[in-house]
Amino acid sequence: MSYVYDPENIFARILRGEIPNKTVLETAHTLAFHDIRPQAPVHVLVIPKGAYVTFDHFAAEASAEELVDFHRTAAEVCRLLGISPGDGAAGYRTLSNAGENGHQEVPHFHLHIFAGRPLGPMLAR
Ligand code: 5GP
Repeated sequence: MSYVYDPENIFARILRGEIPNKTVLETAHTLAFHDIRPQAPVHVLVIPKGAYVTFDHFAAEASAEELVDFHRTAAEVCRLLGISPGDGAAGYRTLSNAGENGHQEVPHFHLHIFAGRPLGPMLAR
């Protein structure tokens, strides 16, 4: 695997504090914030603070501490936003785009969390 991370991507700039964001939750290794162009009533992005380009890059190379922190933060975001079926809510969708076919715009790994309305079938046909 050979990923080259672009330190000037927009999420790297958010992590450096160069661009503001509407933070939902921040931990030692993870940041969750509202998407600037929400595609659902709830649209939050969860990103690791480390320099990972895609899901598979993060999953293969992040430390155990980073991996656990990322997932526990995403779970806490679901709890905080009141969207978890485990709390009796109507649920949500997570999505991560990678590369050209995945239509990834920002080359820093991020998990989208969509909620707040019925989200329809998984992919447009
Ligand atoms: P992708 O297509 O890479 O999966 O998604 C990138 C997401 O980042 C898009 O949903 C887009 O609206 C969001 N985004 C792009 N620039 C900014 C920004 O400056 N701030 C925030 N909060 N979201 C952004």
